Amino acid sequence: MSGGGKSGAAAGRRPFVVGNWKMQLPVSAAAEIARAIARTLPPLPDRDVAVAPSFPALLPVAEALRGSPVQLAAQDLFWKDDGPFTGEVSGPMLVETGARAVIVGHSERRQHLGETDAMVGLKTWAALRAGLVPIVCVGEQQDDRDGQRHESIVRDMLLHTLESLPREAAETLVIGYEPVWAIGTGCSATAADASEMHACLREALKTLFGATASRIRIVYGGSVTEQNIDELMAQPDVDGVLVGGASLRADSFVRIAAFGAPSR
Ligand code: PEP
Repeated sequence: MSGGGKSGAAAGRRPFVVGNWKMQLPVSAAAEIARAIARTLPPLPDRDVAVAPSFPALLPVAEALRGSPVQLAAQDLFWKDDGPFTGEVSGPMLVETGARAVIVGHSERRQHLGETDAMVGLKTWAALRAGLVPIVCVGEQQDDRDGQRHESIVRDMLLHTLESLPREAAETLVIGYEPVWAIGTGCSATAADASEMHACLREALKTLFGATASRIRIVYGGSVTEQNIDELMAQPDVDGVLVGGASLRADSFVRIAAFGAPSR
């Protein structure tokens, strides 16, 4: 099943590979890995590649990536552009660091920090206002999948998160489908499961944004590795990947980002 009908490339969706470094790396190690990625990534003009370090590592990583096509992304932002919000970081501040994209609504933030769909929706709009590409994460728990509720749970999450967004803002969006049971477990969704959910999400995006839905990228995250990347990326509705654990080493991240390249 392919909700978009056409393949991603035919619909004009550039593959997007994003490394999410979470709180896993000291600042110095983040800069070192970024340098190694910039040095070893082969030319990949048909896709976007980004890494998302922690806030304190944004500037050192930006420096390490200077002159390379690898983009800088952040892991979160606040929904206001400025003001008395101790500890928060705004979209315009992220832009000043050189960030071009930002992850919002990651399941770890939903779980540990109580982020709701409404909050994630506000953050998504804040990112778009700042000119950042928001990577909006949704995904079901193991129970939901066991109970065959996963499609309705994830569809509702997406609809509630994006319902207030202006239609014209939608094209820049990236959706991250990240089943919670697959994150950091070594147990990825199958390519067929991911493909089915992505098609379902694209249908949901159509109800919100009409024809623009076919141009919105939907990336998969959850135990992506060098071993499963090619099969995942062969699915017509899988437009890229969010990579956690396997992005913490430059060699494995580069091999994942270079999926499909003959010299990999
Ligand atoms: C993530 O948390 O965004 C993620 C995809 O992690 P992992 O690849 O380690 O499952």
